Amino acid sequence: MARYDLHSHSTVSDGLLSPSAMVARAAARGVAYYALTDHDEVAGLGEASVAAADAHIALVPGSELSVSWDGITLHVIALQIDAANAALAAGLASIRAGRTQRARKMADALAEAGIPDAYEGALRYVTSERLISRTHFARFLVESKRAGSVKDVFKRYLVRGKPGYVEHRWATLPQAIDWIHGAGGQAVLAHPGRYKVDAAGLRRLIGDFRDAGGDGIEVLSPSHTREQFTQFARYARTFGLLASCGSDYHGPGESSFDLGDLPDLPAGVTPVWSKW
Ligand code: AMP
Ligand code: MN
Ligand code: MN
Ligand code: MN
Repeated sequence: MARYDLHSHSTVSDGLLSPSAMVARAAARGVAYYALTDHDEVAGLGEASVAAADAHIALVPGSELSVSWDGITLHVIALQIDAANAALAAGLASIRAGRTQRARKMADALAEAGIPDAYEGALRYVTSERLISRTHFARFLVESKRAGSVKDVFKRYLVRGKPGYVEHRWATLPQAIDWIHGAGGQAVLAHPGRYKVDAAGLRRLIGDFRDAGGDGIEVLSPSHTREQFTQFARYARTFGLLASCGSDYHGPGESSFDLGDLPDLPAGVTPVWSKW
């Protein structure tokens, strides 16, 4: 079992377990350095840090920031941030502020596709009044039998080109990285294998991320194949970026990797925790 799990979600964003339940689960599974990285949020970190002290594990304070780059959405993981930093808090609030309006537009689009009342339906799955995400819509659409699983719902309804997808403008890459650095943290490009770009676009993306001050990339992620573990280890080396790993766990029954379900980082990379 991996000692480091640096990407996960609680009920403060779109996960199914509370911050303290996530910490307890991480500890029970042998994780020694656990990062809670709720989407565009740090509100769970207080509860998580109390739980981590009780469980004698290290909480790595984190978040996963939504970013727009060249017409696509990227996710940037913040690690070892000061959650009390005012500029970061304001930046995260500005990202979250767009979510409600996007959700209303998604519901309108779904209604046009013959699925009424999706906003109210998604709200029943929302667990923090501060944040609504596509995952909450997905759970509602599974409940209303539009597809068999959350994964399936995304494919059919919630990704670009599908009826419930709405374009949205998040933070810029330099903004996100500056907020993270301003709060004393490290910026890690999440699941780089997931973005819909070709090989040249991926190199441009990782180059832009590094040039904007990005510190590392997620090498090990459930979004990656074994071949991509090797591929992104190579990118980390050639772009001079640190390597990170995280299960992206969202809760029982919804995630392919549980907390700590990660192999060792490939040889030849410098881990993001090398100076912790
Ligand atoms: P949002 O930030 O509201 O756009 O929602 C993004 C979240 O939706 C991600 O963090 C995942 O939890 C979930 N998600 C995105 N794509 C998929 C997918 N293909 N299958 C399952 N969940 C997904
Ligand atoms: Mn999520
Ligand atoms: Mn993500
Ligand atoms: Mn995530």
